[in-house]
Amino acid sequence: MLKRAFKTWFLWELLIGLSVTGRYFFKKKITIEYPEEKTPLSPRFRGLHALRRYESGEERCIACKLCEVVCPALAITIESEERDDGSRRTTRYDIDFTKCIYCGFCQEACPVDAIVETQEFEYATETRAELYYDKDMLLAVGDRYEKQIAANIAADARYS
Ligand code: SF4
Ligand code: SF4
Repeated sequence: MLKRAFKTWFLWELLIGLSVTGRYFFKKKITIEYPEEKTPLSPRFRGLHALRRYESGEERCIACKLCEVVCPALAITIESEERDDGSRRTTRYDIDFTKCIYCGFCQEACPVDAIVETQEFEYATETRAELYYDKDMLLAVGDRYEKQIAANIAADARYS
């Protein structure tokens, strides 16, 4: 009873709370001011997908459809045809990002490192339709981030 009255009169809980605040006031801040500041990302970060090209400009994808088959979310749709030179290439490569669960299986399955996940995560849209990426859009992402993609693959190479 006396103890309770003491705590009530001397605002004991408030003092405990303020002591916690005081303890952290002078410590190194661990929060950042996003979006001006960003935390470092792992080379394995799984963000927006990209289709890559070789240095010659030729697309890497050989339309083997392994990524389409392995995708657990059925998010990838591929159509292909044979070119005049006998090589096989996609005529359609779509990813529905409203279905994608960013598991990375497509990237793992690809024999030529054509489909990869970039470190881009700021691609929120106002409509679901805008999250449906076709081949041109995916190749454009690849062109935009090729340097970063190649660096990340190189950084992770000894672990794969
Ligand atoms: S990350 Fe996973 S769910 Fe998304 S497209 Fe690739 S395989 Fe499918
Ligand atoms: S992205 Fe890779 S796994 Fe998918 S169809 Fe093209 S070559 Fe095959």
